[in-house]
Amino acid sequence: MTDEKIKTKFCYKTASEMRRALLNKEISAKEIVDDSYKRIEEVDNTLKAFICLTKQSAYKTAEEVDKKLGNKEKLPPLAGIPIAIKDNMCLKGFPTTAASKILANFVPPYNATVVKKLEENLIPIIGKANMDEFAMGSSNENSSYHIARNPWNTNSVPGGSSGGSAIAVCSGESVISLGSDTGGSIRLPASFCGVVGLKPTYGRVSRYGLIAFASSLDQIGPFGRCVEDVALALQAISGHDPNDSTSINQAVPDYTAALKEDIKGLRIGVITEMLGEGVNPEVKQAINNSIKVFEDLGAKIEEISIPHTKYAISTYYVVAMAEASSNLARFDGVKFGYRNPDADNLLDMYTKTRAEGFGEEVKRRIMLGTYALSSGYYDAYYKKAQQVRSLIKKDFDKAFEQVDLLLSPVCPTTAFDIGSKTEDPLGMYLMDICTLMANLAGLPGISLPCGFDSKKLPIGLQMLGPVLSEELLLRASYNFEQATDFHTKKPEITLLE
Ligand code: GLN
Repeated sequence: MTDEKIKTKFCYKTASEMRRALLNKEISAKEIVDDSYKRIEEVDNTLKAFICLTKQSAYKTAEEVDKKLGNKEKLPPLAGIPIAIKDNMCLKGFPTTAASKILANFVPPYNATVVKKLEENLIPIIGKANMDEFAMGSSNENSSYHIARNPWNTNSVPGGSSGGSAIAVCSGESVISLGSDTGGSIRLPASFCGVVGLKPTYGRVSRYGLIAFASSLDQIGPFGRCVEDVALALQAISGHDPNDSTSINQAVPDYTAALKEDIKGLRIGVITEMLGEGVNPEVKQAINNSIKVFEDLGAKIEEISIPHTKYAISTYYVVAMAEASSNLARFDGVKFGYRNPDADNLLDMYTKTRAEGFGEEVKRRIMLGTYALSSGYYDAYYKKAQQVRSLIKKDFDKAFEQVDLLLSPVCPTTAFDIGSKTEDPLGMYLMDICTLMANLAGLPGISLPCGFDSKKLPIGLQMLGPVLSEELLLRASYNFEQATDFHTKKPEITLLE
């Protein structure tokens, strides 16, 4: 579909452009939501960004916004701006499946804290976004419901696990979205789809009501088509939550206030290990061009080594699978979700329910995680992985004594073909080499569009900062965005019949 044929032109506006139109009465909140659903009708049969639409919830919020507008009441910054949320966040009264068959009929009786905050900010939730089952994956191919497609090339994966959230924003179905990032699941799909995605510091955003994958790594964060929209969305969802014991009890700064300040003298370290062997030359070239952009903006660039990078994938996959095996024990057919109807006894019911309800990748992880935690192997795998995790954290502490931010690609490659890695789990795990250390160390990270390869697929630039450095990350990103035009490009979507 070429740009001229898009009927819903409004869908590609930024949050601040939409807000201006809303306040000037050029459009109502209801019409903005209408526009989102029209766009979804146009493209989502092909792209499959959504598992379920939540029209009732979206229109209810839009109505409230229009009423307040009519009464000339003050509105929060993102009031009336459509958002999609990943289907692992509980939205009261609507199915929340985590893209798993085991939760096909699960309707949560409560809202996740992020949902509560979206509602307080009058942000209409338009739907639940497609994802890899229980957020396990790098391509969105592990969804039990739909094959999601990359808007830039519908034969390519959108990246995972928050693939639907990235597609929705990239294709104009939504203005912003939320995903979750355990080892890269916000940054990787943002990079493959050419949008901005931010993984906040561990604990900055509450995980209450997020279906857990690996609790010490999981973090919710926003997607947008520009840095300012991401800053506004982060503002809306951040803050301390007594319902999440790992939530950080520190005031939330104004993330948009300092965006426009320059970055002269900012010290940026380029991570040596992430630009070496195995990185696609076109990705390398785009990163080198980006480094030049930062230099022109007055930043000081140096090379920095994170020596334990070589252990990152093994460490992450031991920790993540161990925690997943424990977190997923609750899905046993007893309290909620799917239950096999034909079992003769309790054990048979557990076994059949879990065998039928979970997909292949989830089962693989439960088995490997259980193994790593089992007596006799615990010290050799889980404990060892936790020790290496501390060493990785120390590498970053040391790096941040020398530089303010770190820079690398998001992924060694651009989006790959659907089906090309499904038989190769290890190849799939390698996609996370640049992103997962931020989760092991609890650090914030952002993915920014920084170029295209010869197949016209987007390339992503990653920046990482110390704990609670979101303001600085966003400022550096905003400066980069202003100096480049990659974020303004839109995909020409080939619709499938
Ligand atoms: N690709 C990684 C995994 O499969 C990361 C997933 C995520 O961040 N949720 O574990």
